[in-house]
Amino acid sequence: MGFPKKYDIIVVGGGPIGLAAAYNSAKRGKSVLLLERFNFFNQSGSSNDLVRMFRTMYTQYFMAVLAKESIQVWKDFESDAAEQMILMTGLLNFGNPSYDMGPEGNLLDPIKNLKKLDMPYRELTAKEIMQEYPFKDLPSSYLGVFAPDNGCINVPLTLRNLYRLSQSYGAVLIPHVEVLDLKISEAEVVIKAKAQTEESEFIAEKVIIASGAYTNDILQSINLELDLQIWEMVYEYYAADPGPKGAYFPSMWFQFENNTNNDPAKSNLFYGFPSVPWGPPNLMRIAVDNAVNIITNPKERQIIPSANDLQITADYVEKHIIGVDNRPNFCGTCLQTNVVDNMYVLDFLPDNIPGHNRVAVFTAGWAFKLVPLIGKILSQLIIDGSTTYDISEFKITRPGIIKGSKKTINHDFNRLFYISHM
Ligand SMILES: Cc1cc2nc3c(=O)[nH]c(=O)nc-3n(C[C@H](O)[C@H](O)[C@H](O)COP(=O)(O)OP(=O)(O)OC[C@H]3O[C@@H](n4cnc5c(N)ncnc54)[C@H](O)[C@@H]3O)c2cc1C
Repeated sequence: MGFPKKYDIIVVGGGPIGLAAAYNSAKRGKSVLLLERFNFFNQSGSSNDLVRMFRTMYTQYFMAVLAKESIQVWKDFESDAAEQMILMTGLLNFGNPSYDMGPEGNLLDPIKNLKKLDMPYRELTAKEIMQEYPFKDLPSSYLGVFAPDNGCINVPLTLRNLYRLSQSYGAVLIPHVEVLDLKISEAEVVIKAKAQTEESEFIAEKVIIASGAYTNDILQSINLELDLQIWEMVYEYYAADPGPKGAYFPSMWFQFENNTNNDPAKSNLFYGFPSVPWGPPNLMRIAVDNAVNIITNPKERQIIPSANDLQITADYVEKHIIGVDNRPNFCGTCLQTNVVDNMYVLDFLPDNIPGHNRVAVFTAGWAFKLVPLIGKILSQLIIDGSTTYDISEFKITRPGIIKGSKKTINHDFNRLFYISHM
């Protein structure tokens, strides 16, 4: 491979997090090389499809704080790119007010954080929800919480702007180069990588690993394995009646409800987006927040959505949504990487590894909403040795993250879980 071999920073993985880390590091004047094993904007990881939720409604205060802080970082990024990347439609959370299954939260707990952070919200009754949105037959006990400063992230545009700006600031971005292993010393990190059949070595002072569901493939070269559970999740697009009296969703929405008969395959966590201007007209993304295909290596991915996940979503649409076809127009799958507490891993390598703070790692959790912020944090870690943001909840050494380390029972919900809300 005919590229210079020595860089200040090498980033492994060209998804949004890797690109955001490259962008932030190059912007600070560092020489940056980013290696991506597939093509850029690929469908092989966690960032395919058209939309992701930006949301600030969190049960955990530390997540609500980061989400709020990220609003300014998104604005800075939008201003640098001269394009808007979040359509601030707001988010309606609604459902069973006594639902408490998920560690990521429930319906009403975020209110205390919204109040504490002085962020606007509005409470709705089931009747008001059905007046304002094309839902039908919701239980009368359901409640809603609407927060306006939540919105639909334009995924393709975000990726392309991160790619474009990284290059503008001088980062070298190379597709179809797979990082095979790392050798870390006190002085540098040597990366072995493969392009087609040719193997090469690159040297960096520091490395950022942002390889998502594939993280263990790289960490195994330093005898480290994270306890990752990868959900192969479905995304689906449903056609909505364009009118007169069309099926119009004014905002994103998320339903909280317990599983039917406590059966994990019968999740009642559903979510949807309005149709967005960068997507096909009158098609709305609606899906179940669940996965029956749970794997530990992306190689085990089936690519085809699970029939169960398609069926329960279609049944929900038929039962509760007006003016929307009860079969999706198109669908696919996407890999969601989870650790035991559904949060992020955002840290240096564990300090028993010599040269551990030459390598920062990000994986797991629902991260699209914080992409520019996590990119900034990774660049701070690797350039400054620390970050100005509170990432104490995302340590790589917390219980249950490194394979074989003891899992703790979640203190809020008294259960082990891999259930999450985006
Ligand atoms: C269905 C679904 C819905 C979601 N909804 C939301 C949401 O509403 N809001 C939200 O905030 N988050 C959401 N998420 C999560 C969010 O999409 C992910 O957290 C985010 O996309 C992760 O980006 P990433 O850059 O870490 O990973 P990826 O996009 O997977 O990027 C990792 C990259 O690393 C590359 N790579 C891997 N190994 C190597 C190697 N050895 N050498 C070189 N390159 C390598 C891969 O090819 C890939 O391109 C959702 C996820 C799913 C699956």
